[in-house]
Amino acid sequence: MGKTIGIDLGTTNSCVAYMEGAEAKVVPSAGGARTTPSVVAFGNGGNRILGHTAKRQIITNPKKTFFSIKRLIGRKYDSPVIRELLPKLPFEIVPAENRDVRLKFEETILAPQEISAYLLMHLKENAEEYLDEPVDTAVITVPANFDDSQRQATKDAATIAGLKVARIINEPTAACLAYGFHHKKEGKVFVYDFGGGTFDVSILEIGEGVFKVLSTRGDSFLGGNDFDRRIVDWILKLFQEKNGIDLSNDPFVYQRVLEVAEKAKMELSFVQETEINLPYVYVDDKGPKHIVMTLTRGVLEELTEDLVERTVPYIQEALDGAKIRKDEINDVILVGGQTRMPLIKDHLKRFFGHDLRADINPDEVVAMGAAVQSAILQGEIKDIVLLDVTPLSLGIETKGDSFTRIIPMNSTIPIKKQKTFTTVVDNQSVVKIHVLQGEREIASENRSLGYFELVDIAPAPKGMPQIIVTFEIDADGIVQVSAKDKASGYEQKIRINPSSGLSSEEIRRMVAEADKFKENDIQKKNLNREVSALTTLLDSISHSFNNLKERIAVEKRSPFEDFFSQGRSALERPDLELIKRLRTEGEMLQEKLYEIINEIYSKGAPVQAPSDPVTIGDDTEPIEKEP
Ligand code: AMP
Repeated sequence: MGKTIGIDLGTTNSCVAYMEGAEAKVVPSAGGARTTPSVVAFGNGGNRILGHTAKRQIITNPKKTFFSIKRLIGRKYDSPVIRELLPKLPFEIVPAENRDVRLKFEETILAPQEISAYLLMHLKENAEEYLDEPVDTAVITVPANFDDSQRQATKDAATIAGLKVARIINEPTAACLAYGFHHKKEGKVFVYDFGGGTFDVSILEIGEGVFKVLSTRGDSFLGGNDFDRRIVDWILKLFQEKNGIDLSNDPFVYQRVLEVAEKAKMELSFVQETEINLPYVYVDDKGPKHIVMTLTRGVLEELTEDLVERTVPYIQEALDGAKIRKDEINDVILVGGQTRMPLIKDHLKRFFGHDLRADINPDEVVAMGAAVQSAILQGEIKDIVLLDVTPLSLGIETKGDSFTRIIPMNSTIPIKKQKTFTTVVDNQSVVKIHVLQGEREIASENRSLGYFELVDIAPAPKGMPQIIVTFEIDADGIVQVSAKDKASGYEQKIRINPSSGLSSEEIRRMVAEADKFKENDIQKKNLNREVSALTTLLDSISHSFNNLKERIAVEKRSPFEDFFSQGRSALERPDLELIKRLRTEGEMLQEKLYEIINEIYSKGAPVQAPSDPVTIGDDTEPIEKEP
């Protein structure tokens, strides 16, 4: 039997932890980092590129680099959240036949579950290498407010990755578990979890080894990414005011600006002001343009204060749901990188009237909690019981578009509950059961989990039959529903067909494909990284070179032209050593080209102020070399 690990599968970054004796420890990535970017890219020939290497391609390989997949998993193409996100993503999203979200590049179409599976495989392999033993099982965390489809989709991703899921647990619950376990604390704990793509709060009570979740609330479409976008909008607006050029509809430029915006945001958690510097974002016949501006913490706070305010009602709802007052909270734990923002800490300190725990690493605590939970499940830790809750109410549609709750939100799981229903016309032999999840009283306003029919109901006048509907939520928060006609004792063989998800055949096929690719991928990983870097360099240099060719002295052209022809032919039949050599050569040529451009513009073209942006390339071509 292999080892069990805890995985925090984050929107932006993922983290893996394991138990060493009575302590949860983080598995570092091959490069020594303690978290891995949740990014999966595809190189030439469809090879997979993962984590840190994939993140470096977001700008240079935007159509084949997939990030923030957690925002897409288990969602419908037509849902408002996807519609809002669509124009901002550099990669392509298409609807599947059943209107689930699919990701597309060239002729390949993938489910978000597959992309997540590739990332999970990468995390698994990395843990195996570090721990020097096979890993076959994981406790995986999800945002507390993930619904049934999103949980099921996460489980499917793990299955495709060849991992058994010991348990799916909620991220804030995991954080509290790690905190309570390591600090041997008792009392009421408030967990405020603000990650890259999701926001969650939970209140837990710890006492005598029992961790009981009292309530949980959240928004799976509010996260650190929204802060980054506010900064991007601000930068692009200032750029437009200064240069009269609107860059907002160019996904390539958008992505480059997004990267510097996030970096500025992170720096502003520690300093009062920072410089945003992005050379060569645009070029026209007047020469290149750069983005150079200063962002202060004060301006960042003005731009994003409403996002922080949006979390306050959830805090209050969680307190109301737990039936406690804010002064009864003993400790506030911060989880997720976004909570490093001073504005968020100030808001929380003011709200709760006391200091926040500062001794917990917000990036690692969730994975550590998942590792603790894995030890509990394996019986290695015996004195802890974790009682989690369901984040949303579950029920069925009843006459007049009404929603009838069967399991209310914040019920402790696992749970099984029944309710009896009846028919609306005489001798009705079929009832259609529409399973829903949500808090609205109107059925159509809630999220549909699926339909099924109970047939062969014994003939009877309307209102007489007793149809018992049973809902069961397992410890992973995944739902099963059944219905039974009491008179005939006949229980229909019923399984929910999730309205969003993969069939078991699809999962089997994906597992087989993943295995097939594995060997191949490891071999091609290094080559692929170099090929993609060289391709980017070739594209970037040749584009700028061709634009300016007529203005470059003839004797200076040949090193570039040689490089283009050697590079293109090397890419046709890639050889690692040759490609590496050409890449180094290309990087030197790129520097050379910058010098030539500056020379040209300092002589002939309109003169720019020294701090003014410079640009080469147009708005569709990659222009920056890989860092
Ligand atoms: P997570 O999903 O927990 O990895 O959170 C990642 C989010 O935290 C991203 O949106 C990051 O930009 C954000 N983040 C990381 N470090 C900082 C920081 N120092 N200040 C503000 N936000 C940060």
